[in-house]
Amino acid sequence: MGSHKQGTNDMSKNLFGLQNKPDMPGFSDFDKAVQGDRNNEHFLAMNCSNYTNFSGSEAGILHGNGNVTPTWTDSNTVADIHSHPEGSIGPPSASDVWGAMFSASHSSSYQGRYIMAPDGSFYCVAITNRTAALNFMRNNTKDDVISSSGNTKNGFNQKSEFADDFRDALDQFSGLDPDDAWCHALSAVAEMHGMGITIMKAESKTQPFKSKHVIKMSNSKYIAAECE
Ligand SMILES: [Zn+2]
Repeated sequence: MGSHKQGTNDMSKNLFGLQNKPDMPGFSDFDKAVQGDRNNEHFLAMNCSNYTNFSGSEAGILHGNGNVTPTWTDSNTVADIHSHPEGSIGPPSASDVWGAMFSASHSSSYQGRYIMAPDGSFYCVAITNRTAALNFMRNNTKDDVISSSGNTKNGFNQKSEFADDFRDALDQFSGLDPDDAWCHALSAVAEMHGMGITIMKAESKTQPFKSKHVIKMSNSKYIAAECE
């Protein structure tokens, strides 16, 4: 879709493109862990100091099944990446959206949450408007958005408007590839509620990220837009 300009987020241009490095220290260990065990989730946080990961090696990667909680994501965290295991969805979950905003509220350097999908593609919940994200975090609790009691629909608190808005957006994008529809629907919910995030995707680790954002029409419907 040409070079549609929007908020700059250098990190989202290429995987770990921050600091003009083609790769991020710790990523090869992370990649190896994922290739060696696709049935579990692996998680790596990249911290500010020297742009190295938490411990600079395999030891800094969390491994687990399902919900690997990055308890040590801290005020130096620039980004994090985790894998979605074989058989799970590729795109970010609602709790990934929440997690990215949570990290942004704890680290002023935080750029976004990367996800390595089972098919080898990458997604990013990019913080594209930090002020909006922080404002959202001040006005909403985790339970408002994703429900800690497990009452969720597509990951959102099923009693909340987020769940309804996400479902409506998914309907609007039903003509797209399901993963694309999911990403644009998340971006639409983010747009409606001023979350300050955009969902991005790179087809592989050498491809650029493209934003799966949305454009609001005069009839209040959204259309999918894709930008470099
Ligand atoms: Zn995830």
